[in-house]
Amino acid sequence: MDQTTILEKEGFLNLPIDKNLNLIEEIKRLKKEKNAVILGHFYITGDLQDISDYTGDSLGLAQKAANTDADIIVFLGVHFMAETAKILNPNKKVIIPDLKASCSLAESAPKDKFAAFKAQYPDHKVISYINCTADIKTLSDVICTSSNAEAIVNSFPKDQPLIFAPDKNLGNYINSVTGRDMVLWDGACMVHEKYSLEKILKLKKENPGASIIAHPECEKPVLLVADFIGSTTALLKHVENSDKQTFIVVTESGILHQMSKNNPDKTLIPAPPNDSTCACNDCAYMKLNTMEKLFLCLEHEQPELHLNQEQIEKAKKPIEKMLDISAKLNL
Ligand code: SF4
Repeated sequence: MDQTTILEKEGFLNLPIDKNLNLIEEIKRLKKEKNAVILGHFYITGDLQDISDYTGDSLGLAQKAANTDADIIVFLGVHFMAETAKILNPNKKVIIPDLKASCSLAESAPKDKFAAFKAQYPDHKVISYINCTADIKTLSDVICTSSNAEAIVNSFPKDQPLIFAPDKNLGNYINSVTGRDMVLWDGACMVHEKYSLEKILKLKKENPGASIIAHPECEKPVLLVADFIGSTTALLKHVENSDKQTFIVVTESGILHQMSKNNPDKTLIPAPPNDSTCACNDCAYMKLNTMEKLFLCLEHEQPELHLNQEQIEKAKKPIEKMLDISAKLNL
């Protein structure tokens, strides 16, 4: 089977790797030789976070992607994040260890259905959460992340009707804090929708001094019991600055790696999902990134992310608008 067929079938280069290789050293060598930068999201595994040149949330990663002078961007996250990097760097090579690292939230908004939905509200401006495909970005007026969503929404006059897509939970939360009545697309993240309120409350009962901290992609009943709600970066900062000792963390468990590195003396309890006996909640897509796939991806510079010129031109405007607003507000 040739490499293109392997990529189409498996999503990554499933090639044999010499067991004697020190993959971390090899990745560092390849990165230097090829002038590549590795951008990693907080939800990937700890070993991959540690080898990344920059680890961050969606806003931080988009900002880094916009400013890199590397020739190759290796994106350790999911597909829509690599698309964003490509949109901001159309002349650079953007590679991703596994093309099948998708996102349930991005997939919940197919382009044709979203275009038909948007057509029902001709007076509305569209704010799309960055967790959407490049095609949805082309239909949006501005992009936001969970770090800047409130500020982006507030950048529109109060009487401007708005559509918020694709995450209804984040949209609901932003409606509640801004007093808006945005029309919401009915999408959700399968990880953040899976938390069990019952199990969270049980954990709180067992740890009465603990603070519940949650990502705004969680459902409303979970957000209502949270002591603090914020983006991944805001959650990290909150744990560092809080004088509390114990935290029940209601977001993807990859964040615990950085959180425990920053706060070795604090107790971090991952909130469990409702459908398993596992103690924490992983994004299966994020966890498709592995050290082996990263090595193969850097060595062969594949799989490469491709977008057409029209997608890039149309999707760039709302992303740049977000980056401008964020820069003006020091976010
Ligand atoms: S955690 Fe949810 S929103 Fe984030 S990449 Fe995974 S499925 Fe998508």
